[in-house]
Amino acid sequence: LLVAPIRFHHKPAEAPEEIVGLVECVALGNDVAELFLSGGLSAAASERCFASMKEMMGLEQAEAEKLLRDIHKQTLEMKRLFDLPTGGLGNPDEILASANEALTTISLQTTQEASQLEMEKMKLIDEANTDPLTGVANRRRFNDYVKETFTECTSKGKPLSVLFLDTDHFKKFNDTYGHAVGDLVLVELGKVLGGAIGERGLVSRYGGEEFAGVLPGVERRDAAKRAEELRGKISEATVKSDEGEVLHITASIGVATQADGLFPSPDALVKAADQGVYAAKASGRPDAMAA
Ligand code: GH3
Ligand code: MG
Ligand code: MG
Repeated sequence: LLVAPIRFHHKPAEAPEEIVGLVECVALGNDVAELFLSGGLSAAASERCFASMKEMMGLEQAEAEKLLRDIHKQTLEMKRLFDLPTGGLGNPDEILASANEALTTISLQTTQEASQLEMEKMKLIDEANTDPLTGVANRRRFNDYVKETFTECTSKGKPLSVLFLDTDHFKKFNDTYGHAVGDLVLVELGKVLGGAIGERGLVSRYGGEEFAGVLPGVERRDAAKRAEELRGKISEATVKSDEGEVLHITASIGVATQADGLFPSPDALVKAADQGVYAAKASGRPDAMAA
C-alpha cells in the first residue's frame, strides 16, 4: 500500500491503474511539502500544486489556497502530536504570498518568452524572404508575391504589371572595377528600383544582376512609362570606384502586364517580362562600358 505510491509519485502517469488516485495524492503531498519548506519560493512547486489541485479536485486558486491553509494547520498539529522533524514551516500567509509572487513572475516570463519567440520567428521569416546584399525581397518572396497578386488582381479584374531588369555588361564591370564595387552597384540598383516601385508593389532581386518589380493595379502603358523613368534614373545613378572614379551603369528592362486574362498563369507573365529584357538588349543596349 505504501511502497507503490512512493515508488511512482514522481511519475504518476506510469503508475498501475488501480493506485493512480493514491499516487497522485502522494505526488501532490510532495509538492505541498516543497511549497511549504521553500517558504513559497519554489515557483515550480507552486505551479505544480495549483495545477494538480485544479486538475484532480477542480479547485480554483482561492479554494486551493484555503485547502493549503488547512493542510498547513493540520501539519503543525501532526508535527506536535508525533514530534515530527518537519523543520520550520513558516507563516502560511507569507508562504502563499511568496508563492503567488513566484507564479506571477513565471507567467510574466512565459509571456516575455512567447513574445521573444514570436519576434525571432518574424525575423527568420523576414530573413528567408530577403536578399542579404541589397535588403530587397529575394526570388522566393517574388514568386509568392506574384502568385498572390496574380490571383487577386485577376479575380478583381485589375491589371498586374511585372518589370524585369538586367544590368548591362555587368560581368565586364566586375572584371574592370572588382566585385566589391559591383556589389555597390547592386545595392544602388535595389534603392533606385525601390523608389520607382513604391510602397504598393514589390522590389526583388531575382538573382545575380537581375531584379524584378511587381506593380499590382498598374496597367501596361503606365508600367512602360515607369520602366522608362526607371531606366533613366539608373543611368543617372553613380557609384565610385576604389580610385574615386565616378561610374555609371545601364540596365535593360522588360515589362509585361496581365490584363483581360492575357496570361494563363503567373509564370507566363513573368516569362513574358523576362523575354522583354532580351528584346530590350537586342534593340538598344549600349556598347560594353560605353555608358
Ligand atoms: P548582359 O548585358 O548581356 O546582361 O551581360 P552581363 O555581363 O550583365 O551578363 P552575364 O550573365 O554574362 O554576367 C552577369 C554577371 O553578374 C556575372 C556575375 O559575376 C555578376 N554577378 C552576379 N551576382 C553578383 C553579385 O552578387 N555581386 C557582383 N559583384 N556580381 C555579381
Ligand atoms: Mg543576366
Ligand atoms: Mg546582365
